[in-house]
Amino acid sequence: MKKQLYGVVSIWVSILCLSLYWNVQSLKSNQDKLTFKTANALFELMVTARLWNSSHNGVYVQVTDQTQPNPYLEDSQRDLECNGLLLTKINPAFMTRQISELTHKDLNTRFHVAGLNPLNPQNQPDVWEKEALESFSSSDISEKGEFLNKNGVVSYAFMKGLRAEKSCLECHKNKSYKLNDIIGGIRINLLNPSKANLLPVILLHIVFGCVGVFLILFFGLKLIKAYKTIQHQAIFDALTGIPNRRCFNDRFLMEARRASRLGSNLSIIMADIDHFKNFNDAYGHDRGDLVLTRVAKSIDATLKRPVDFCARYGGEEFIIILPDTDPAGAIHIAGLILEQVRGLDIEHKHSDADDKVTISLGVASQKNVPLNYEDIIKNADIALYLAKSNGRNRFEVSGTN
Ligand code: GH3
Ligand code: MG
Ligand code: MG
Repeated sequence: MKKQLYGVVSIWVSILCLSLYWNVQSLKSNQDKLTFKTANALFELMVTARLWNSSHNGVYVQVTDQTQPNPYLEDSQRDLECNGLLLTKINPAFMTRQISELTHKDLNTRFHVAGLNPLNPQNQPDVWEKEALESFSSSDISEKGEFLNKNGVVSYAFMKGLRAEKSCLECHKNKSYKLNDIIGGIRINLLNPSKANLLPVILLHIVFGCVGVFLILFFGLKLIKAYKTIQHQAIFDALTGIPNRRCFNDRFLMEARRASRLGSNLSIIMADIDHFKNFNDAYGHDRGDLVLTRVAKSIDATLKRPVDFCARYGGEEFIIILPDTDPAGAIHIAGLILEQVRGLDIEHKHSDADDKVTISLGVASQKNVPLNYEDIIKNADIALYLAKSNGRNRFEVSGTN
């Protein structure tokens, strides 16, 4: 029973482990998707800004220390002077480059424009970017995102390819790019990306697990105890503690079949306390119960072989099975029981058999027990009746062959 209980506990723990694994995996995967979407949204924002720029065929800004004319832009109208202000044209690539430089200052999100064959040497890709760009050129996939761990610092690296637009081809005309070819990409680096918070899920599973195990063990052990009690009550007599009649029936059937199969002797002894009604009337029912228990225990103690069996057959009657025992053996045991009960030396002034509690016994023994097993019990009963009629405090034998 305990094994089954531990089985239930292991099933419960396994279910929780699976649930924890599944929850952790799905939380991580959701967080990964969220990080990917965040990086992608930033990329799209940049692409929209580039689109806005190219839709105006580039925009003019004032030349400052930070914004010097773009040396890679071949445009006769790159620089203009307007009312004393020196203006220079910013094309999408230059705009992207400038924004990415801004992010390098103190933002957790960084952009880097990179191309496999850039005009601006600052747009040279690093190893990771080069690998990504090469994979974009050789496949239909044009985006890549993964977590990187560099010296313990975790970041999320995302790169998406930029396709050649009309405005790009003007500057890159020497490089045999066609419209829509991947000419480079924007890498977005998210430093310290937020991680999935696994603690509540883990704690919840631990709490559920412990409570579950506690409840299973608590109620399981109670159930086992109740089951054992019921099982015990089904087999043992509540008053005397020796097996009951139901248990005898099973045991008798088993032993009778065995004796029949092996052709061995089977002996049955039926025992009944003499004038027990008188005892109860004279000494009270409680004393009567005590006597029943003592007599039951003394009969049980007389049986020495492990296969010998004694049960309470009813009221103040007991029945003994002696497998593989011939009549002589059964008579010997009956004599011992008789002496044993007398030896208890319990006063019984209202018995005409003796002045102490005595017992009468009927012995039946049979070899090659026939299929009609019940006959041997009937014979023991007849012998008991004989012992009673012959004056009690004795045994009689019947049905031997
Ligand atoms: P006999 O010698 O012919 O067997 O006489 P007897 O009085 O023993 O037999 P009888 O069948 O007339 O009465 C049996 C008595 O056993 C009746 C009842 O008071 C008593 N008895 C049966 N079961 C119990 C029990 O569980 N506890 C007690 N105290 N007495 C019981
Ligand atoms: Mg009786
Ligand atoms: Mg009796």
